[in-house]
Amino acid sequence: MHCELTRFPLIKALLKNRWPQLLIWIVMLVGFLFAILSGFFGTPVGNRNFGIVFVWIAWWAVLILVSVPVFGRGWCSVCPIPLPGEWLQRGAIMNPPGNKPKWYNLRWPNKLRNIWLQNLTFTLVALFSSVILTTPKVTAIVLVAMFFLAIGMSMVFERLTFCRYICPVSGFIGLYAQAAPLELRVKDKGICLTCKDKPCYNGSLAGYGCPWDIFPGGLTKNTYCGLCMECLRTCPYENIAVNTRPFSDDLAKPSTRMDEAFKAFIMLGAAMIYAGVFLGPWGSLKLAAYSVGSMSWFGYLLAFLAFIFGLLPALFLGAVWIGNKLSQATAALKKSFTAFATALVPLGLMFWVAFSLSFVLTNAAYIFSSLSDPFGWGWNLFGTAAIPWQPILITLLVPLQTLVLVGGLLWTASTARKAGSEVKVSPVPVIVFSTAATIAMLGLLL
Ligand code: SF4
Ligand code: SF4
Ligand code: SF4
Repeated sequence: MHCELTRFPLIKALLKNRWPQLLIWIVMLVGFLFAILSGFFGTPVGNRNFGIVFVWIAWWAVLILVSVPVFGRGWCSVCPIPLPGEWLQRGAIMNPPGNKPKWYNLRWPNKLRNIWLQNLTFTLVALFSSVILTTPKVTAIVLVAMFFLAIGMSMVFERLTFCRYICPVSGFIGLYAQAAPLELRVKDKGICLTCKDKPCYNGSLAGYGCPWDIFPGGLTKNTYCGLCMECLRTCPYENIAVNTRPFSDDLAKPSTRMDEAFKAFIMLGAAMIYAGVFLGPWGSLKLAAYSVGSMSWFGYLLAFLAFIFGLLPALFLGAVWIGNKLSQATAALKKSFTAFATALVPLGLMFWVAFSLSFVLTNAAYIFSSLSDPFGWGWNLFGTAAIPWQPILITLLVPLQTLVLVGGLLWTASTARKAGSEVKVSPVPVIVFSTAATIAMLGLLL
């Protein structure tokens, strides 16, 4: 059921006012810089280092278990990475000063206006993840690289080009944000048609033009809206609303884009490979993933790429082709392929939730010790440094994961049915594909 949250004056005032957002941003920025410092100067023991524990256990747990499923791109509205670049670009921290943007302000090339580069950056991070996730210095280097690349791109290109086209996290947050029960939309598209200056896109003295380079008046999906709230501030007709809605509303309208379809395969495949590498019983697979640069690692790299970009899409294409034949469909195979890939959004999201539950419940105890001793230098700031490691709620893990995976499959089946009715193709083979993937994931996790 839809409910407009911004009709409550307190919520609207809090979202429109820049101060609450700025305060959260500053806290996040301090935490982010602290994670970098502890990565460079703290203990090299991963589970004793604030950088590793807070980025890959605490932040990841909040992001994948709560923030993305409930708030969609909510994290992007308080993420500290684009902040300094945005301030530099605007020449202001709060309200627009009323002059032209600083620096070069170039437009991002048309050919790169898609998420293929994000697919590439995510794949690169995923290939090196065993080292990034366990080595504080490497985590710090990745964070610094993202931070300075975001600053550099803000000085060369207009708006948030880094977030929109490069950030490795952005692609999957956007993909899964479609499933979230929260959206920002215009109330009445008719008002937008007659609105002359379109300040939501072009900016005004009340706020900046959409930093994510979308026209808010045409929003139909959550994928690329960073929930920054600028359009809520700039729209002179109070025509922007933040609404709650049923889960996966956006998925009723299937995607037509191949870059988004491949994002779904990358995420689905990466969750399965991670489950095998980090939780499976195969010592040699784990060793290969950790031995970056060795022959066995190159073997792992090839297998990783072949699984994600070859085997998964090929099997899926086969399923879609069978569906087309069964229905004697007239729709082009490519159209059915991209439409049905939308059904992999809930499946992939639930794979990640199930996988993350394993390592978050196993490792959450490290949060308390690293809070008291963030650098691993023997401090005991809050008296929790000596809390021994022990898994949390571990008896609930298997039932929870089973529930999540089976729920994800049912959700996928329902999304596949909707996609099938849009392109007039039987969803049954895609549901069989999703069932086989779920059984494989259950086997890897349990
Ligand atoms: S796209 Fe990436 S860098 Fe940009 S706000 Fe979101 S998570 Fe942060
Ligand atoms: S400023 Fe408001 S009314 Fe005008 S186009 Fe944007 S959302 Fe629509
Ligand atoms: S200005 Fe509006 S449409 Fe654009 S990213 Fe911010 S909240 Fe989303």
